[in-house]
Amino acid sequence: MQDDLISFKHGIRFECQGSGKCCVSRNSYGFVYLSNIDIKRFSKFFKLSVKAFKKKYCQITDGFIHLTERKELNGNCIFLKNKMCTVYKSRPSQCRTWPFWNDNMNSKVWNEDISVNCPGIGKGKIITQTKINKLLKEDFDNEKLILKNRVNPVK
Ligand code: SF4
Repeated sequence: MQDDLISFKHGIRFECQGSGKCCVSRNSYGFVYLSNIDIKRFSKFFKLSVKAFKKKYCQITDGFIHLTERKELNGNCIFLKNKMCTVYKSRPSQCRTWPFWNDNMNSKVWNEDISVNCPGIGKGKIITQTKINKLLKEDFDNEKLILKNRVNPVK
């Protein structure tokens, strides 16, 4: 809802603190969903065909492709090692745009979840309104690509 949106006309201070907290499934932040662009980027990074990458690193839930989750990792991303992303240069759009997701920009979610769980909020340099808008646009476009990438929609 419009009146719930947080204001960022003066930007928001944010700098990743390497906590790895955004790389762990919790509540609504479950899977790392992948668009075709993400998959192609990863395939190149791992020097695998798209098919081989999907087979090795992906699962499908409700028709949506996402990075495989392994029970033994307790929700940690398969690419998180010692709180560091081991595929940082090739990380998916979902990770590139964090924490500036459209779904995060309302005061309830931002104040009660994002700011509480992400130690990077309020640290480092100010991310300008222009930059935030760019990230929100990327997040929006990424969601559309993920929807387009859906396979075998639930009947
Ligand atoms: S790909 Fe990297 S940044 Fe994204 S959730 Fe996994 S470890 Fe975190």
